[in-house]
Amino acid sequence: MILKHRYEPVELKIMRSLNVRMNLAAKDENYYLNLEKGYEGERKFDEWIKSFSDDYLVLNDLLLEYNNTLFQIDSLMISSNKISLFEVKNYEGDFFIEADRWYSISKTEIKNPLLQLQRNESLFRRLLQELGFAFPIEAYLIFVNPEFQLYQTPLNLPIIFPSQLNRLMDKIKKKPSRLKDVHSKLAKQLLSLHLKEPPYNRLPEYHFDQLEKGIACPLCHRFYHHLTKTTLLCTSCGGSEEYPVAVLRNVEEFKLLYPNGKITINHIYKWCSLIKDKRTIRKVLSNHFKLIRQGKSSHYVKND
Ligand SMILES: [Zn+2]
Repeated sequence: MILKHRYEPVELKIMRSLNVRMNLAAKDENYYLNLEKGYEGERKFDEWIKSFSDDYLVLNDLLLEYNNTLFQIDSLMISSNKISLFEVKNYEGDFFIEADRWYSISKTEIKNPLLQLQRNESLFRRLLQELGFAFPIEAYLIFVNPEFQLYQTPLNLPIIFPSQLNRLMDKIKKKPSRLKDVHSKLAKQLLSLHLKEPPYNRLPEYHFDQLEKGIACPLCHRFYHHLTKTTLLCTSCGGSEEYPVAVLRNVEEFKLLYPNGKITINHIYKWCSLIKDKRTIRKVLSNHFKLIRQGKSSHYVKND
C-alpha cells in the first residue's frame, strides 16, 4: 500500500521552466538534466514497488532529520519482518569500482553512492531507536537503468541491478508480511516527521525581463509557435492544448517562479506572449480566479 506518493519536485519544475526560458550555464544545465533523470528513475522504481500487496507499507520520498542532519530516503517499505530502504539511481553507461572508489569508464571519479546509502541507513537507524521502535533494517542501492554497467563489483555489496529486481521482490515476499498496529503507528509517525522540500539553493539567478516569454508544451517542453482560434499547436511533438488550459498552466508556472509575483492581466499577457488578444487572458483569469480590486495594482488570487 502506497502511503506516501512521490510528486514532481518543485525544484525540478522550476529548473525545467528556466531551461526553456533562458540559456542555462553548463553546470546549471547539467544539474537540471540530473534532476530530470533522477526523477525519471524514481518513477520507474515506483512502478516496481507498486506491485507489492497491501501487506507492505510504502513511503516515497521522505525528508527526515536526525541530530540536525537532513537525509532523504527515495523509498521506504515497512513489512512485518523488516524495514527496507531504497536508494534509487538512474545512472547510464559504463562504470567501475576500484579500491572502494567509483569511476566512470573515462576514469573520472564519481561520488560513491554506497556512502550515501550507508549514511542514510545509519541516520535512519538512530532515528528509529529514538522513536522507540526496534525493527531490522536493510538498505539497497537500486540501479534502474538497463543501460548501466558496473564492472568489478564485489559480490557482497547491497546493490541491485535491473535484471535482479524480480528476484529481490521474490526474496522480500518469501517471508509473508503480517502487519500489526505497531507498523501503521510507525508509518504515521514517519509521515508526521517528513519535512517540506529543502530550500533550493542551487537555482541560478533569474529576472522576469530576461526570461523568454511564451507558453511551453507540457509534453516536450518546447515553446508553442502556432495557434488556431481556440487551440495551441506544438510543431515539435504534435501536441495541442486549448487556450484556457494552457494559460492556467502558464499562470501556475509564473507563480512557481515568482511566488510573490502578482497575477495581473498585464503580467500574464506578457508571460504568455503568444496569445495576442488581452481579452482571452482576462477571460481565463476572471473565470478561474478572484479579482482583488486595488486600482492600478488590481490583481487576481486563487478562489477560496
Ligand atoms: Zn510538444
